[in-house]
Amino acid sequence: MSKIRTVLGDIEPTMLGVTYMHEHLITHPPASLLDRDLAMESRAAAARELSHFHLAGGRSLVEMTPRDYGRDPLALREIGAATGVHILCTTGWLKDKLCRPWVAERTVADLADEMIREITVGIDETGVRAGVVKAASSLNTITPAEEKVFRAAARAHLATGALISTHTEMGTMALEQVELLRSEGVAPERILVGHLDHKPDLEYWRAVAQTGANLGIDQIGKEKYLPDSRRIELILAMVAEGYAAQLCLAGDLARTSYWPSYGTGGGPGLTYILWRFLPWLRERGLDPQTVEAMLVATPARLLQLERA
Ligand SMILES: [Zn+2]
Repeated sequence: MSKIRTVLGDIEPTMLGVTYMHEHLITHPPASLLDRDLAMESRAAAARELSHFHLAGGRSLVEMTPRDYGRDPLALREIGAATGVHILCTTGWLKDKLCRPWVAERTVADLADEMIREITVGIDETGVRAGVVKAASSLNTITPAEEKVFRAAARAHLATGALISTHTEMGTMALEQVELLRSEGVAPERILVGHLDHKPDLEYWRAVAQTGANLGIDQIGKEKYLPDSRRIELILAMVAEGYAAQLCLAGDLARTSYWPSYGTGGGPGLTYILWRFLPWLRERGLDPQTVEAMLVATPARLLQLERA
């Protein structure tokens, strides 16, 4: 019996509704990063932003903050209960710069055991269970620490069926990530490769899609990296080639300045995709059923735990 594991417990896939596949609600990044805009520490701001998301039609989101970036499962549970938005949290790790101190001395088996425990039993003593597995690589390389995390993520996936959702640095190493996971027995259909809109190259996106993996177009609204008009062109081209069911949308709004709810001066916020980006996509000719499928059917398919 497949189910979806939120911070408040399991739900049926049909209850998921409109879902963003890669966001952040509460983060406590290490002080070494120095940039305080990255520290999203207000539960009140998160609840406010999520209530706007709900008003815009949003029902669920995947909170991709892992332990090495200051994951806060109890805060997520409180915010989920307060707003009624389904929140999934993640086990796993970020790129080398962040994960190395935590994973360098550990074995793949030990890392996998922790991931499986966080999905099936709970995170530390909180009782909150993770619903997805995160692994990450660095710019143009997968370091030894990262490779261990990928191999552990594969084992955790094989034990639980949880989706593996990755971080790529500027979109690089997507094919290598899929290949590494595949070498450990993971079906590419159970992988979501993140941040591909940092590498806005149709040929590259097609190559990733041809493996069977899913593509995270998850920097929507960050026009300093890429104009959304270009994201839309690429999405339309991928849909025309038959890859609509492999595209996952999100904003990855991991700065206080990206949320109006922090009062730091604007930002797209969690309503941007629903209120601005989707109407724009429809105006450019994408049919409403395809738009709906990207936000509802695809997340419901990917987030099902097959074996836990
Ligand atoms: Zn992220």
